[in-house]
Amino acid sequence: MAVESLDLKNMKGIEQDNSLVEFQEILKEAVNILNYPPQVFEFLKKPMRFLEVSIPVRMDNGQTEIFQGYRAQHNDASGPTKGGIRFHPDVTPDEVKALAGWMSLKCGITDLPYGGAKGGIICDPRKMSLDELERLSRGYVRAVSQLVGPTKDIPAPDMYTNSQIMAWMLDEYDHIREFDSPGFITGKPLALGGSKGRETATSKGVLYTLQMVCELKKMKLKDTRVIIQGFGNVGSYLAQYLYEIGAKVIGIGDMLGGVYDENGLDIPFLLENRDSFGIVSNRFTSSITNQDLLEKECDILIPAAISGVINKYNASQLNCGIIIEAANGPTTKEALKILDDQQILVVPDILANSGGVIVSYFEWCQNNQGYYWTEEIVDERLKEKMTESFLKVYHTSNRFGVNMKIAAYIEGIQKLAEASRLRGWLKY
Ligand code: GLU
Repeated sequence: MAVESLDLKNMKGIEQDNSLVEFQEILKEAVNILNYPPQVFEFLKKPMRFLEVSIPVRMDNGQTEIFQGYRAQHNDASGPTKGGIRFHPDVTPDEVKALAGWMSLKCGITDLPYGGAKGGIICDPRKMSLDELERLSRGYVRAVSQLVGPTKDIPAPDMYTNSQIMAWMLDEYDHIREFDSPGFITGKPLALGGSKGRETATSKGVLYTLQMVCELKKMKLKDTRVIIQGFGNVGSYLAQYLYEIGAKVIGIGDMLGGVYDENGLDIPFLLENRDSFGIVSNRFTSSITNQDLLEKECDILIPAAISGVINKYNASQLNCGIIIEAANGPTTKEALKILDDQQILVVPDILANSGGVIVSYFEWCQNNQGYYWTEEIVDERLKEKMTESFLKVYHTSNRFGVNMKIAAYIEGIQKLAEASRLRGWLKY
């Protein structure tokens, strides 16, 4: 199936990825609010390093295909860089650069000893065999091996990559370096030094964020009606947790459309019936479009799929009180302005979805220590980090009188700027 025919990709206003421009515009605003000199913005607006690679891969039919890949390292003042690798047909250099910048901010907000990075390969994993994916994953590591490593730049899963891909990448890296280095990559399977709780970390982080928001708004999470766009790693676990708590998940969206039931969906049934790419809507004759799904009335809307889905074309049509950005960059800057005017609270991605990188950090600590934690400890520490970070951003938003997106940028920038200044890279 061609990507262009996908419902999610056909939504109005997401034809063109604008992530880098959006990242830079909000960055500039936050740097100005902090009264930092313009050089801070000039330094942080782009990655410090960007690598573009060509990866030849022998396909199952005997032909060789050349894939384009990227790795952006945004800022390594506070420590090695950290960030996932996505396999997706729509990957662009600018998107990877923006995502790396957002990773830096996430690490700043959550106070992890990292800067941000991100990688991407232009490919469509839905059309590739497992053998082809393995050769592509190994080829990527060979191409970027000079630049990455446990104390340099630590990759992890992102869109359409998973623990198996991390395992192949680790194995390739170990062969190149000729020693065992589990701390080179996170999101690994448990048998290869992965952390308990890593797979569910992003969704748990979103859940803890939701709990904080409900406390603040004096709402009971179990009495809320929630719509989640995206039923992949993040959306599916989140739907399950909310269902277990007793909240009504009334809508789920995937790449092909959405399913909706105002009385609450049968989440265990959907989980059993989705495919490995999180597609479930094609099993239902009554499925609706992603556009309609976002506009349905609910208490909490959680975009957990791709960037740009809430934009100037649909922001004024939404019928929710709270948006939690579980995906990276789902709300555009123009949409945010409309939502602010309507007093819809938007909890930003760089805060809400930081559970993944937080537990990646825990995984890296465990690899470096050679001592592995229980799931309870991982969970407890994740909750602590998420709560602290949420409160920090919330107070900053009140202190400066700005929305939580700008407040999150303000929080993220401060550590990056200070580390860069202390190293003598920036003078101010
Ligand atoms: N790809 C995830 C993110 O965007 C996780 C990154 C990591 O674990 O390093 O936050």
